[in-house]
Amino acid sequence: MSNLSEGIKVKLAAMTDDYIRQLPARYDELTRDINNARAKCSHEFLSILKNSLHKLAGSGATFGLDELSAESKELEVYVDTYLQEDIDSQSFDWVFFNKSLSEIENICKPKENIGELEELEELPEILSSGINDYSIDLDTERHERNILVYLSDKEDSIVSEISDQMGIFGFNIKSIHNLSDMEAFLKLDTCKLVIINSSFIENDISAGQKLNKIKKSYSNFISYIFVADRDDFALRLKTVKSGGDAFFVIPLDTGILVDKIDKLSSKMSHPPYHVLLIDDDPEQIAYYALVLQQAGMITSVASNPKRVIEVLVESKPEIIILDMYMPTCDGIELAAIIRQHEAFLTIPIIFLSAEHSEEKQLEAMKSGADDFLTKPIRPENLIIRINAKAARSRNLRFLMERDSLTGLLNHANLKERISIEMMRVKRSGGNLCYAMIDADHFKNVNDTYGHLAGDHVLKSLSRMLQDRLRRTDIIGRYGGEEFGVILINTDSENAYRVMEEVRENFALVKHKSDEDEFFITFSCGIASFAECETPSELNDAADKAMYEAKSTGRNKTIIYKK
Ligand code: GH3
Ligand code: MG
Ligand code: MG
Repeated sequence: MSNLSEGIKVKLAAMTDDYIRQLPARYDELTRDINNARAKCSHEFLSILKNSLHKLAGSGATFGLDELSAESKELEVYVDTYLQEDIDSQSFDWVFFNKSLSEIENICKPKENIGELEELEELPEILSSGINDYSIDLDTERHERNILVYLSDKEDSIVSEISDQMGIFGFNIKSIHNLSDMEAFLKLDTCKLVIINSSFIENDISAGQKLNKIKKSYSNFISYIFVADRDDFALRLKTVKSGGDAFFVIPLDTGILVDKIDKLSSKMSHPPYHVLLIDDDPEQIAYYALVLQQAGMITSVASNPKRVIEVLVESKPEIIILDMYMPTCDGIELAAIIRQHEAFLTIPIIFLSAEHSEEKQLEAMKSGADDFLTKPIRPENLIIRINAKAARSRNLRFLMERDSLTGLLNHANLKERISIEMMRVKRSGGNLCYAMIDADHFKNVNDTYGHLAGDHVLKSLSRMLQDRLRRTDIIGRYGGEEFGVILINTDSENAYRVMEEVRENFALVKHKSDEDEFFITFSCGIASFAECETPSELNDAADKAMYEAKSTGRNKTIIYKK
């Protein structure tokens, strides 16, 4: 595994987690097959059982659960012997069988985890473990610091100009003077962007070609931002020929630079699409899952239509690929059942079937499907079609849930998340805090520096919140110049500490308008779950605390007290 990139390792770990989460369900399916085989004592049901064990042996090995794989394999061979020799299944040794089965049960359903697994089934995206606690270690769960390389043929003052400001946004800038140092940094997973002083390619004729070659060797998975002391067409062209993705003229505006860097990095690494495959044929499902995984997607599979809603809730796929014919209910009926659930109305459903009848295909489309792909389909074609559908679906969801200026959750979705998180805390214990942030004298910013400069300020505040808070915290734009943050598993004391740190750092950010530089502060109010019963109480309490911060001088954080 050591040769794999961090990205692939993370993906594999996520897939393994998914698999482990599905083990109790897989075990339940296995016991059902065993019960049938025992009750019916027929060749047919023993074959089904053998197939289940075969699947478990194969998938266990794939995901590194060697013991599970070995135990399942042993039972599979045992069942297979009976099938091969056509021995009367009455003589099947169920005592031996059950002994090995209990090993499998221990692996699939470890006793101490059952409560947690039930919790995960309902609300899977956030783990309620102690690692979220700000009091344990402020930095462990934060976003990784990104390393940026600044490449220049000589010592210059740009590094010192931007590094303080970039540092506030979580970037660590390394100044270097040659390409081999640059390549050394690019080997790090946290460094995929280089800022280049264009004098570097002007003073050395071959430098531009070399830069371009290095970029190609990374299949363009790195970005170059050129900075120059003047704006002229010939120079811009040179930077483009050297692989440049952006061009800025000094003096640099940190806010705009950070925005560009974020855009370039999100283009390079969007999180993988999550596809759910529903098919009763394990071989085919495995084949298509592999094709999609090779293309960088995460796959979940469901071979039993009855479990589909459960799997949908748990794995939250962005797209469903559905088989047309299955034993208990066909694809059209299943699509109709999926669409009966409000939450799954917008997930694209794509049929993948050997059905060539146009009439049947149209019937499928009427049931709420988004596309119909006919088997056989070439893997490349499948990947292109699924990628395009998933991208559209993700964009659509982003537009529905997110605020267009900052990309944060919008008002409605932030409020929804407050309710969900409060329910979770009520059920499973723990704590959370809600912080409300309002920019100080923001009207003055618009009046003095213009609305565009105001927009940049809001973007950089949003960017800083995303950088400074943990991945598990939930950040939204409450409206206008107001933001809301849900701090998971955090008491008011720690929430205060964190928000004060953000406030102090934000006050140091130098904002720019056409002619001026200026600073902005915000006021913050914090309310804790411990003091509030309902989401609206929590919201009002944070709002009250925020207004107290305003009325007592602004640029401060106040904790709500009853
Ligand atoms: P206070 O310190 O009391 O909060 O004063 P304030 O000026 O920030 O508060 P007020 O509510 O009077 O004004 C908020 C301003 O925020 C007015 C509005 O034009 C501006 N604003 C709201 N949304 C946006 C936006 O998306 N972009 C820009 N540039 N300005 C916005
Ligand atoms: Mg306001
Ligand atoms: Mg304000």
